[in-house]
Amino acid sequence: MERLMIEGGTVVPMTGQSDVYPNGVVLVDAGRIVYAGPREGAPDLPGARRIDASGKIVMPGIVNTHCHAAMTLLRGYADDMRLMEWLQTRIWPAEARMTPDDVYWGTALAAYEMLSGGITTFLDMYFPADPVARAIQDTGIRGIVARGIIGVGGPSAALSRLDESREAFHRWNGKAGGRITFMVGPHAPYTCPPDTLLACAELADELGVGIHIHLSETREEVEEARRQWGKTPIRHVYDLGLMKGRHVVAAHCVHADDDDIAILAETGTGVCHCPVSNLKLASGRTPVAKMRRRGVAVGFGTDGASSENTLHILGSEMRIGAIQAKELEGDPAVFTAWDAVTMATIEAARVLGMEAEIGSLEPGKKADIILIDTERPHLTPNHDVFSLIAYSALPSDVVMTIVDGRIVYENGRLTTMDGREIMARVREAAARLVRS
Ligand SMILES: [Zn+2]
Repeated sequence: MERLMIEGGTVVPMTGQSDVYPNGVVLVDAGRIVYAGPREGAPDLPGARRIDASGKIVMPGIVNTHCHAAMTLLRGYADDMRLMEWLQTRIWPAEARMTPDDVYWGTALAAYEMLSGGITTFLDMYFPADPVARAIQDTGIRGIVARGIIGVGGPSAALSRLDESREAFHRWNGKAGGRITFMVGPHAPYTCPPDTLLACAELADELGVGIHIHLSETREEVEEARRQWGKTPIRHVYDLGLMKGRHVVAAHCVHADDDDIAILAETGTGVCHCPVSNLKLASGRTPVAKMRRRGVAVGFGTDGASSENTLHILGSEMRIGAIQAKELEGDPAVFTAWDAVTMATIEAARVLGMEAEIGSLEPGKKADIILIDTERPHLTPNHDVFSLIAYSALPSDVVMTIVDGRIVYENGRLTTMDGREIMARVREAAARLVRS
């Protein structure tokens, strides 16, 4: 692994709102950050490759807390429909035709797209786990694999999905230099009866990993939960004991009420906020500023490309999420540009339980770094770097993406795989999947 000296850029380490270093330096050795700060005081790093970052923002890689990566295969296939009808009549039938190879190429395309927009880590819920892990390995991104578990099809079907999760964990966890890790992924309380949820919790304990689940995404889901269990999905999962002593990462929580928010805060459950998917599916507006005021860690997530329809946080989730948070409370001051950039980096890392390793540029952390070119009309002038990142920057402004100290994307090109081949394979597979 080579040594890097990234110099001359505006270094934004995300260690504090006043920590901004124009003409700063970031040093990388053996995949880890050695230094991030002002030029004065930067130690020597003999033999380092020098990267000229003048005119660029140098910041931590963006963390995507919720994704269904291989759904890139279905991008644009069935838009403008209601969630349940969309899932039942279009998405699930197409997914049933997907081969492991399709999932590999769909995930590789997602990783390519995410790296091109500055995302260096993502939490994925999809199936099967094997090709997802292989695509993470080959593209150079960092990924957490949560094999999606549903409880339909009888107990033995759920058991075989749990077995597959366990086998994939033992085959892949910690591989690719530690870039591949795992969670257990019960899809949602409405697709997992209590016995499946409890079996997932047991597996999470056995493997020593967290749980990733969808909770309270739509009003209908909450109403159905009240009919079936007499409580909200979040209260239901809490009462089952899923959140006790376990790290839970909950996607959406759009319709979390005050009691739900208290549960999320008390249990340290991290929330994945996917505003574009939620607004596009008209699922509702998440009380994100309120959750954060009450101590819940919230990170941005893209959800799948078949609802987002991009896998970008910069220029997409961050911008629209900030606008939604302001609009919901009728107050532009409740959610700031700094809040948005925090939720895309260090707070998102906290949601995933990875804040000791990623999410900020600090000595000892993994060298996941992006460079944003500000020599663009929409990024001129620079009165406030957080405003630029949260409200003006576009994914295409990212000119370099580094994961584990390795340059995996540079000037429009994926360095780890042939990007054109990935797109060609996905086009082929996509055409086959929607042919009924
Ligand atoms: Zn989702």
